[in-house]
Amino acid sequence: WQSIRPILFPVFLLLLAVTFILAFAYIGYTRSLRDSLEILESRNNLRYRLFHDILTDLPNRQALMQFLHDEKDGSIQSIVSIDLNDFGDINDSYGHDCGDYVLKEIGRRLSEIDSKLLVRSAGDEFILVLGERVEPESALLAQIMNVFAEKVAFGDSVLDIEASYGVANWDESMDESSIVQCVDLAIRNAKVVGGGDSVFFYDEQMKRDMERKLEITDYLKLAIAEESPVVLFQPQVNTYDKSVYGYEALVRLKDNAYFPDQFIPVAEAAGLVSSIDRIVTKKVIQQQAAWRAEGREMKVVSINYSAAQLRDETYCDFVESLLREYDVEPRYLKIEITESMMLENEGLAEELFSRLEQMGISLALDDFGTGYSSLYRMATTPAEYVKLDKSLVDTYMVPGKEDFIDHLTQLIHGIDKKIIVEGVETAEQYAICKRMGCDIIQGYFFARPLPSAEAGAFDPKTVA
Ligand code: C2E
Ligand code: MG
Ligand code: MG
Repeated sequence: WQSIRPILFPVFLLLLAVTFILAFAYIGYTRSLRDSLEILESRNNLRYRLFHDILTDLPNRQALMQFLHDEKDGSIQSIVSIDLNDFGDINDSYGHDCGDYVLKEIGRRLSEIDSKLLVRSAGDEFILVLGERVEPESALLAQIMNVFAEKVAFGDSVLDIEASYGVANWDESMDESSIVQCVDLAIRNAKVVGGGDSVFFYDEQMKRDMERKLEITDYLKLAIAEESPVVLFQPQVNTYDKSVYGYEALVRLKDNAYFPDQFIPVAEAAGLVSSIDRIVTKKVIQQQAAWRAEGREMKVVSINYSAAQLRDETYCDFVESLLREYDVEPRYLKIEITESMMLENEGLAEELFSRLEQMGISLALDDFGTGYSSLYRMATTPAEYVKLDKSLVDTYMVPGKEDFIDHLTQLIHGIDKKIIVEGVETAEQYAICKRMGCDIIQGYFFARPLPSAEAGAFDPKTVA
């Protein structure tokens, strides 16, 4: 005892130190183990979130792409996209909680369909990946559409939900991204062309249409960058004395690569129409200043305005500054509006109308008598002029049917508006217009849309 006694205390200290070291090492080890597990878990969570939608907990678009990429055994036969109609209205009218509930409920019902994968691919769009081809008459399609047969109840509200459907059936030319593009194209067509409850199948024609649209879009972008669109002027003739009242400005692409009926709708869809119409507006005002410099009498020029342009909030400022720059009076400009502008965005349309009126620019209601023309809308627009569409001329300006135009003319004159008749092609039609008291005539009978030099020199009296 005596001999070991001196080292007892150091040994004790040593053991204590070793114990502490081991204890710390253990604590450190378990802590780092826990940290690693936590990191692993949060990494898994992150991965899960990356591939899943938070609201419905369904796989998302990224998961769809991964799935299509991994699935190489040829078992995927069809992809169906399901897009709820007017979902924004549900959110606006019943609140976002209701909107969320609808999405979850539709997701739940769709998950009962026998599919390889169901994803919520976008806000109100679901995609089903199927191991069976879907044809217009197939039971599977009926089953999918049947999901919407039952109404959705939320609180006291019972909602009738409708959807549009796009289908792409697999073929050898497709890979994972192209089949998704095909189904996207089909659903876009279903939404735009179809309306509620319509099913669109992807086909080659759809693909060609899309390629053509892309081709036109590229062409337009270049034309806009070069400011190359040309303006033609179609004379408008006063019926009472056969003098030029003014012109309608009609845009053409250089070399007539495409005609307005082809490229204006594409420009509208691609958000390019404002740029084109700004170029037209500028060239029109420049032309008026040029005509004045040549010593010609100033005439009113009408410019077409698209509904898609309503979002161009500074258009009026743009016109105002051009009028100032070229010293052209606003009364020599007219803007042609359409009823579709009022249907699509009444608020913005009214704002535009009153601003143009304040500026002293007159309005004409274009294409009256086509589509959903309404006497009420015609009567309530601030447009001073109503343009009767060519289709009315073709149908009613024939012997025995003129009464209709007669009554329409009286009605429009009765509310103090003037009439411009479009598409007058024959001497007989012109004679009828005169007899009915229509104010202004525009049509091939007098002249086609003309380059500025010819338009400026045009004299209607030379037309028999
Ligand atoms: P719109 O505004 O109704 O223009 C009248 C169209 O009828 C013009 O076709 C004109 O050439 C055509 N037309 C006039 N008289 C006759 C006729 O007697 N017989 C026949 N068969 N046709 C006649 P265009 O120039 O091809 O324009 C078609 C449409 O494209 C226009 O219809 C307008 O909606 C749109 N558009 C044309 N230029 C512009 C533009 O600068 N901006 C915008 N946003 N749209 C434009
Ligand atoms: Mg027009
Ligand atoms: Mg028209």
